[in-house]
Amino acid sequence: MEYKTLGKSGLKVSIIGFGGIPIQKTNEEEVKNLLIRCEEKGINFIDTARGYTVSEEYIGYAMEGRRKKWIIATKSMARDKESMIKDVEKSLANLRTDYIDLYQLHNVKTKEDYDKVLSEDGAYNALLEMKEKGKIGHIGITSHSLDILNIAIETGKFESIMYPYNLVENQGEKLFNRAKELDIGVIAMKPMAGGALTDGKLALKYILQNSNVTTAIPGMATFEEIEENSKVGENISTLTEDERNKIIEISRELGTEFCRRCGYCGPCPKGIDIPGILILKAYKEKYGLKDWAEQRYFSIKSRAKDCVECGSCEKKCPYDLPIRKMLKKVRTCFDE
Ligand code: SF4
Ligand code: SF4
Repeated sequence: MEYKTLGKSGLKVSIIGFGGIPIQKTNEEEVKNLLIRCEEKGINFIDTARGYTVSEEYIGYAMEGRRKKWIIATKSMARDKESMIKDVEKSLANLRTDYIDLYQLHNVKTKEDYDKVLSEDGAYNALLEMKEKGKIGHIGITSHSLDILNIAIETGKFESIMYPYNLVENQGEKLFNRAKELDIGVIAMKPMAGGALTDGKLALKYILQNSNVTTAIPGMATFEEIEENSKVGENISTLTEDERNKIIEISRELGTEFCRRCGYCGPCPKGIDIPGILILKAYKEKYGLKDWAEQRYFSIKSRAKDCVECGSCEKKCPYDLPIRKMLKKVRTCFDE
């Protein structure tokens, strides 16, 4: 396994990390076995979140006695100081540790959201306080918005960013370039494009061609996935011509109904978070996370059923996606 330094955090992370979403559908013993196999393969970076139901708890159980072998990243959607302090304490308890290497502000979506987390009583100051107390080591931010991360990286407040990156979603390349210049670590999320990509080896190989990416974090819930993914991280070889052609073919195939989460279609007059809603369908259908996806979907105020088919989003989508038709499929998927 190859390793890279996660920006100015100085953390030496494996270029293939362990994404903690799919383990929700397993159990703590299984997670323990999976993590032991990861260790044997040299994977040392794990990313989870307060929002991934039992993920932190399973990881905490699995890591007992072997905590030092891992660099743990987690994140919280808390936006104010008090809630963030509570969430860090909860993560520490769930993960059965007294120290979390990287704590991230999770999915900061809008400028309003961003201003809130960075206000005096915001979540960022809670993380600073926890860092001073030695409960967390470093602070990162995750988002699906290029605008937010472009602002965030210039502030000097973050040691890492996390943003979607895969062979059909490469709109983050300029951002990654700038992050590298500023010595900020880049964590590539959604390496399989939310389950749309099935050739895991090719998907990861594509990501690792970009030297500005520090690590990619595919979700792994089976030994086969660990074997296949870790192998890619053992040696970053150049894409062959065949592989390049395959990438072009995959992009073409996915092109007609695949949301790249660029966000250009917003704002929707009915308040629908179009990319956020579309990805939940993928989580339900392609990752087998039925309960989790349903729970998240039905907790959203404006959903697919609220679409009045005004069509304004479709005019703005650079990929000409039939968003209205896609939202109807979301309704069917969630039986709404
Ligand atoms: S078509 Fe539906 S989702 Fe698109 S902007 Fe109009 S109401 Fe929103
Ligand atoms: S629907 Fe189109 S514009 Fe909206 S996020 Fe997806 S790809 Fe971007």
